[in-house]
Amino acid sequence: MADGVYTFFKDGLRLDGRRKDELRPLKIEAGVLKRADGSCYLEHGGNKVMAAVYGPREVHPRHLHNVTQAIVRYKYNMASFSVDERKRPGPDRRSIEISKVSREAMESVVLKERFPRTAIDVFVEVLQSDAGTRAAGINAASVAMADAGIPMKGLVTSCAFGKIDGEVVLDLCKEEDNYGEADVPVAMIPRTGDITMIQMDGHLTFDEFKEGMKLAIRGCDQIYELQREALIEKHQNDLKAKE
Ligand code: ADP
Repeated sequence: MADGVYTFFKDGLRLDGRRKDELRPLKIEAGVLKRADGSCYLEHGGNKVMAAVYGPREVHPRHLHNVTQAIVRYKYNMASFSVDERKRPGPDRRSIEISKVSREAMESVVLKERFPRTAIDVFVEVLQSDAGTRAAGINAASVAMADAGIPMKGLVTSCAFGKIDGEVVLDLCKEEDNYGEADVPVAMIPRTGDITMIQMDGHLTFDEFKEGMKLAIRGCDQIYELQREALIEKHQNDLKAKE
């Protein structure tokens, strides 16, 4: 911070040393929870999230069931110890909104008609947060769903782009998110190219938006490869365990 103005670039690089089009480091592990049908632990920069998927299973309360297809439920929760100051436990407006948009981003890939009268429950727990937790949650949930063997048209992958110091950049870290000019989380199905979520906080010109979407699509392609690798590794470990 100089004279009250936050400067985000030093020698052409961002505060954490990244280029404008560079993702933070990611680590993805599938099948980490014994009691869930599918699960995933994911780290993305300073974010640490766990996703657990149950189902397709009987719907409770029963009146919520749909006779023609499965219902998908998505619960995003940020642990009270996941932020600097203790967060009040339990749902708040933000987590309800994130759960809704994340469910909408995910459910279009699920072949729901195959499982009428059932529920697919997705739980995302944020253990440590550093901006971009909804994207991290969606990436983990997507792997957990595949790990649960739920038939899908493809994996859903998510990352954000934004604007700092007038520059469009990929994957904002916490300082960039807090003091930047725009934050745009995007989710897509890399296999088909369909976009399943776009939200925008801040202001961008149309050209900046187009530039950012290009970055986000390339970022999602990279994350998609890591999601696939995590699932292949889990599958290979399962096969080894059976030998
Ligand atoms: P996302 O995590 O998807 O980027 P936001 O843009 O709403 O969602 O939040 C950005 C970051 O701000 C979060 O990742 C988290 O680090 C921080 N944050 C959000 N809510 C709180 C809160 N109640 N207390 C402290 N920090 C928070």
